[in-house]
This record gives sequence, C-alpha cells and structure tokens, in this order.
Amino acid sequence: MISKRSMFLSGAMAALLVSAGPGAGATEDWHAFGRDVLKQLIEINSEHAIGSTEVTHAIADRLTAAGFARDDIKLLGPPDHPTKGNLVVRLKGTGKLKPVLYIGHLDVVEAERTDWSYDPFKLTEKDGWLYGRGTIDMKGQDASTLTALIRLKKEGYIPDRDIIVAFTADEEAGGDANGVDWLLKNHRDLVDAEFVINPDSGEGRYKNGHKLYLGIQTSEKEYMTFGWAATDKGGHSSRPGPANPIYHVAGAVARLAQYRFPLHLTDTTREYFSKRAELESGQVKADMLSVGGASPDPTAVERLSAVVETNILLRSTCVATQFDGGRSESALPELAKAVIQCRTVPGETQAWIEKILNDIAADPAVKLSVIYPPDISPESPVDLRIMGEAEKLARDMWPGVAVIPFMSAGASDSAFSRAGGLPSYGVDGTFQDLDDDRAHGKDERVGVEAFNQELDFSYRLMKDLGRMK
Ligand SMILES: [Zn+2]
Repeated sequence: MISKRSMFLSGAMAALLVSAGPGAGATEDWHAFGRDVLKQLIEINSEHAIGSTEVTHAIADRLTAAGFARDDIKLLGPPDHPTKGNLVVRLKGTGKLKPVLYIGHLDVVEAERTDWSYDPFKLTEKDGWLYGRGTIDMKGQDASTLTALIRLKKEGYIPDRDIIVAFTADEEAGGDANGVDWLLKNHRDLVDAEFVINPDSGEGRYKNGHKLYLGIQTSEKEYMTFGWAATDKGGHSSRPGPANPIYHVAGAVARLAQYRFPLHLTDTTREYFSKRAELESGQVKADMLSVGGASPDPTAVERLSAVVETNILLRSTCVATQFDGGRSESALPELAKAVIQCRTVPGETQAWIEKILNDIAADPAVKLSVIYPPDISPESPVDLRIMGEAEKLARDMWPGVAVIPFMSAGASDSAFSRAGGLPSYGVDGTFQDLDDDRAHGKDERVGVEAFNQELDFSYRLMKDLGRMK
C-alpha cells in the first residue's frame, strides 16, 4: 500500500520506498521476505512434544496480512490433540482445472542446544550457511512454499487450478495426529486435488560443490514388520535336545541373511536408472543403462546388487533388526524371537511377503507374526507434464542438471496422500550435499544461496503448475 504521505516525497525517495516492500516483486525483496519467514518458522519450536499449532497461527497472520480472505484460511486439527494443528489455505483459480495440493509438515525432530554449535531454535547465519532445526527438514521448504503463495497473491495471479497449501502436524517420530492423514480422512473436500506436490520428499543434490540432479519422487517403499518366534518347554542346560527355540529362529535368520528378493523394477526405477546412468561412467553407466532397458543383463543386475544404494532400488528387502531368546545361563530357552523389518517395492502384497518369509524359514517350529502391517503407498505414475515443468526450470536455473524420477527407501507424508488416491510428487529446489545429510542431525543447515534459489524455484514452479494443462 502506498500511503498519501509518499506523494510529498521526492520521486526518487518514493520509488525507493515502494521497491523496498515485498509487494514490489524484485527478486532481492522476496529473498529477504523468505528469509524472514524462515527465521520466524525456525524460532517457533515445534518438536513433537510441543506441536505445530503455534506455527499455524503465525502462518495464518502472514496470509491475512497478504490479503487472503479469512474464509480461505482454515485452522483445524483433531479435537483431542489441540497442539497438533494444521493450516489449509487456498489461492483461488478460474476453476478450469482440478486443484494442486502442496503439503508441508511443520513439526521438527528434537534438537538439544548442548549437542549443537548454535542454538537450534535461532536462525544463525555463518560462512554462507543458515543453521537451525528444520532448515532442510522442512521449514526451509515451508518458508519457500509460503513465500511463493504470498508472492503470487500479491501479484494478483489467477491460476487455472486452485492452489491449495496444507501445512501439517506430526510427520516425524511416528506421531498419532498426522495432519495429512487426518485432513484426508476428515476434510477431503478441503484438500482434494488432481495431484500433490510434497517438497519434503524431493531432492536436489550436489557433490564436491557440483550440482548433479534434481530428483522427483514418485514412490516410496512400503514399511512392514514381522516377527519370527519358536517356543519349547525348556529345561536344564545339562540335558539339551533338538527342540531349542534359539536354534530354530537363528536358523531362519541365517537363511534370511543368504536370501535375495527377486528383481522388481517399476516405471520409476527403470527411468531412474536410465537417467542416472548419464551421471556415471564406465561399467556403472553401462550397468545402469542395461537395468533401465527392456531386458536387464543378469550380470549388470548382479554388480548393482552388490552396492547397498542401488540394491535397495532393485528389489524389496527384509532384514533382522532384533533378536531375543532364553532367560537364564543354565536353562534351556523356552522362547526365541526375531524382528524382521521389510521395505517392499510398491505393488507387492503382505501375503506374498509372508509366503516368502515362511519359505525362507522352512521350519514349522518357527511361527510368523505381523508386528506392523504395511502402509500401502502405490507408485504415482511418472507424470511427464510435471517432469517437463521441472526440467524447464532446471535448464534455466541450473544448466546441465538432470531431472530424475525416483523411488525412495524411506517414507514421507506422500504415503498418506498416495494411499488416499492422490498421485504425489516430491519436488524440491533446495540443493544439498550428497555427502553431508544433516536432516534430523546436529547443526542442520541450508546454504544461503541454495535457500535463495529454492525461493525462486518454488515461486516459478507454483506459478507454472497453476496453469499446467
Ligand atoms: Zn521431513
């Protein structure tokens, strides 16, 4: 807003005042605005025990100040979890196309001041870095998304599809009030969309200072956990017999160690290997091209399976993570049990995994149980329109950077949106060091320049997606 007072100022002075506000649209101003939002979000502690509600109020104030109607800003959450608030805001479009939904979690992993070099809940700039809990997971991305939305609003941009942004609670630490899940189950109308953008699960990566790729996440491995147990009547250790539960379960675990799940490629992982090959050379490049092709060469599969990072993209995995048995040094064990944690390629059923585990155990004395049933999260189709928009921006902002669809081995809130029938894409323009991942760790940080570029990228992507046919 230009006050009457400015009319009495000299032309140059007035121009200076006008261009100083974020409404002016100059790039530097939006960088400053974005930084200010980031500072505010970081400095409101939203660890699991504290919750996200206070952050949602700060965001609501920003949105109101930017001109969003109160009716387009919803603050809501499960009544029995007052600290696990969510905020849903809508930038209205012409309605020609179905909405896009952005999701961004507001909670952060715990951080102890004594573990850190700086106060984790103060945004600290040092040597080109911004330190603070959440700078990369994911208050940095939340700040970018919010800044982009406010900037579009201030510019009077009318998209062809509504742009909905949901800032949500309880993504980390297996919370019981996950915002995305709760919104989809209780307020589907508010968040229903053609597709979802989740900056939390996208990845821009560089190595040795050189930008490598922008990964668009289309799928996640599913998480399921089983138990193997065997029992016996026990007895004195001086009188051992063959029915020792430890031997039975240990035998099954030893066979699991030798087992490898069959090769299971998806549209995403095939495309991933084809494109990732371009960043490699020699044998690895040839192997990736082979695996990305129509009929992978078994020796290429063998070589890539020997490396953990590529093996986990080629197949499901199950691994023993806990083992327990026996009560006393001089007694035959009455019980032995192992926990088997599985990460499966989308599309593989619980029944199929159970059959494989029973076949591996190959022992009627070893009983299989379900400890954690799968979170079903189907693969989202590789959407060439979204890939195309990201490629266009990457070509312009970071020439030579590959845009690659990928499946991640861990889980994000996209598991809930995919399970809810919404194709979901992890897209994030924040470049991070491939060899220095500080998410959830001490001295979490984002580069000043990386954050500024993220602000530009988020704005341009949101604007493009608003009219993408
Ligand atoms: Zn996260």
